Amino acid sequence: MQSTSLQGKAALVTGSTSGIGLGIARALAQQGAHIVLNGFGAADEIKALQIALQKDFGITAIHHAADMSRPAEIAAMMQVAVEKFGAVDILVNNAGIQHVANIEDFPIDKWDAIIAINLSSAFHTTRLALPAMKEKNWGRIINIASAHGLVGSAQKSAYVAAKHGIVGFTKVTALETAQTGVTCNAICPGWVLTPLVQKQVDARAANEGISNDEAKKGLLSEKQPSGEFVTPEQLGALAVFLCSEAANQVRGAAWNMDGGWIAQ
Ligand code: NAD
Repeated sequence: MQSTSLQGKAALVTGSTSGIGLGIARALAQQGAHIVLNGFGAADEIKALQIALQKDFGITAIHHAADMSRPAEIAAMMQVAVEKFGAVDILVNNAGIQHVANIEDFPIDKWDAIIAINLSSAFHTTRLALPAMKEKNWGRIINIASAHGLVGSAQKSAYVAAKHGIVGFTKVTALETAQTGVTCNAICPGWVLTPLVQKQVDARAANEGISNDEAKKGLLSEKQPSGEFVTPEQLGALAVFLCSEAANQVRGAAWNMDGGWIAQ
C-alpha cells in the first residue's frame, strides 16, 4: 500500500541501479517520492527497475547514467532532474566502489576513482542541490558513508579515507544549513550483502578454499557481532525516517546501522 508522506517530492539517489541505493530508492518511492535513478547496468534491466517503481508505487521514475567520477556529467544529471521534477528535494549520495590492497600495492588509478566516486561526487551534487533547497527552505541530504567512516580496516585505505571524508563533509553541510529546513546526515552501514560485498566474499572463498557460505560467516564474524547482514530495506526505512518531520533536528549525525560493528 502506498503511503503519501513524501508525495510530490523528488529524490535523486546516486548509484541506485543496485544494492543499497536501489533499496533506498524503493523505500522513498513507497512514500510517494518521484525518483531519479543513477548508476550503471544493462539498459533493459534498468528499464525494468524504472517500470517496477512506477507500477508498484504510482510515481514517476527516470534514469540518468552520469558517471559520478565526472563533474560535468553530474551537473548534466542535476539539470535533467530539475527539468523533469522542478527540484531535487531529497539527495542521497550513495554511489560507491571498493578496492582491497595494501597501501604500497594500491593502484593509483583505484585510489583516484574511489576518492572521486565515494567522496568528491557528493560535493558536486550537494553544491548544485543546495541553492534551491535553501530557497524552498526544505531539503534532505543523506550521505551513505559506512562503518568505515567511523573506524578503519586494513587494506581499505582509499575507501576508509573517502568514508571518513564524507562523514566530515556531512557535518559541514549540516552546519551550513543548521538554521534552515534543510538537513544533512550520514548513514553508516555495516556489511550488506550486495554485489560490492559479494566480490569480497568470492575473493575470500577462493583464497581460503572454503565455500561461499563459510566465507560469508567468516566475513561477518570478524566485524559484525550480530552475525547477520544489514539489508537494503532496513537502510531504506532509516532514510525514510531521516526524510520525515520527526527528524527535523537530526543534523550532522553519522548514524550507524551495523549489527554492532562499531560498538566494539
Ligand atoms: P553496489 O555495487 O551494489 O552498488 C553500487 C551502485 O553504484 C551501482 O548502482 C553502480 O552502478 C553505481 N556506481 C558505481 N560506480 C559508479 C559511477 N562511477 N557512477 C555512477 N554510478 C556508479 O554497492 P552497494 O553495496 O549497494 O554500495 C552502495 C553504497 O553503500 C556505497 O557507497 C558503499 O560504499 C556503501 N556501503 C556498502 C556496504 C555494504 O556492505 N555493501 C557497507 C557500507 C557502505
